[in-house]
Amino acid sequence: MSNPTRVLVLNSGSSSVKYQLLDMRDGARLAVGLVERIGEETSRLVHTPLTGGGAERRERTAPIADHEAALKAVAEELSADGLGLDSPELAAIGHRVVHGGLKFSAPTVITDEVLAEIERLIPVAPLHNPANVTGIRTARALRPDLPQVAVFDTAFHTTMPEHAARYAIDVETADAHRIRRYGFHGTSHAYVSRRVAGLLGKDPAEVNVIVLHLGNGASASAVRGGRCVDTSMGLTPLEGLVMGTRSGDIDPAVVFHLKRVGGMSTDEIDVLLNKKSGLVGLCGDNDMREIRRRIDEGDERARLAFDIYIHRLKKYIGAYYAVLGRVDAVAFTAGVGENAAPVREAAVAGLEELGLAVDAGLNAARSGEPRLISPEYARVAVAVVPTDEELEIARQTYSLVTSPAH
Ligand code: ADP
Repeated sequence: MSNPTRVLVLNSGSSSVKYQLLDMRDGARLAVGLVERIGEETSRLVHTPLTGGGAERRERTAPIADHEAALKAVAEELSADGLGLDSPELAAIGHRVVHGGLKFSAPTVITDEVLAEIERLIPVAPLHNPANVTGIRTARALRPDLPQVAVFDTAFHTTMPEHAARYAIDVETADAHRIRRYGFHGTSHAYVSRRVAGLLGKDPAEVNVIVLHLGNGASASAVRGGRCVDTSMGLTPLEGLVMGTRSGDIDPAVVFHLKRVGGMSTDEIDVLLNKKSGLVGLCGDNDMREIRRRIDEGDERARLAFDIYIHRLKKYIGAYYAVLGRVDAVAFTAGVGENAAPVREAAVAGLEELGLAVDAGLNAARSGEPRLISPEYARVAVAVVPTDEELEIARQTYSLVTSPAH
């Protein structure tokens, strides 16, 4: 029998599981799907087989009690298309894991010890790692014999030098509580920085790139020769850029002030900064399409929110330009970065002296392909690169389980 070539990618959230089944011979998707509202009466599974033959999207709306029931339902849907978890063609399951701390700088085959270590990281990632652990446990119970791999959001950033990763606070206190900058969205930053090098016809080791991952969560990274040297998210995904609902950088004394003077509890401040700030806090909307529509109608609050978002973005482009010294490309990715031409235009406006410019026609053209949007003459390439975290997780998983050392 030929070697198995399929990888199932699982992204387990607190009440959802997203999945994709890929064939690693060509990276083709065989099926994609989502289970949402796990544990609620209104659970929903949407499964789309992509193997051709006119198969169509299927939806289940019966309550799904927990992650185990969710994965079993996913396995049934896959089986119905002849793609079940028991298929000999399945090589591995790749799990997205948000926080790998300092320990995990690369994708890792999951053992009991690895799982225990991911659990030990829950205090630094209380919102994400518990669900990732549940997803892994459930998948291992279903296929105990199958290699399963953890791919960490933080891994790409473990190459950051100490002077970029450490906060300037008391070293003993920081170390006692594992406080440092870890960074997130690493799978996307890794994928996009590599694709940009390809777009320029160069080896990733030769190019310096600023990657701007602008989704609902947003982060920037400075990548020198394929290695991350700085990134905007920190101990948690709250630091850095203005996001859909997160404030990004603020003076930490705002927290003391809200507590002492505003009478707010720690949990209330947590919710304020993570869920009620950023674009939604500034103007009531976090969808860039809606914000642009309101600006076109003359809405001042939407305009100010957009300007604050762009101002922060520009500051990070400048900062990472200085960190890298030489920049070959700036790459925009994720929902906003891939789709919002006005954001890209405004972010590089006025930076001609730095060699940065956007061609209006190229910027406005819509495409799902990686592309350059800078004019011929520009010293620094500006690119739009659709991110593909699932493909990257599948690739890393497959490459690990098929490596001779495994
Ligand atoms: P996440 O994975 O962080 O949830 P995405 O990368 O999917 O987010 O990005 C979602 C965001 O992308 C939306 O909140 C919206 O602001 C933005 N977005 C999506 N499509 C468009 C579009 N056509 N124009 C402008 N913004 C868009």
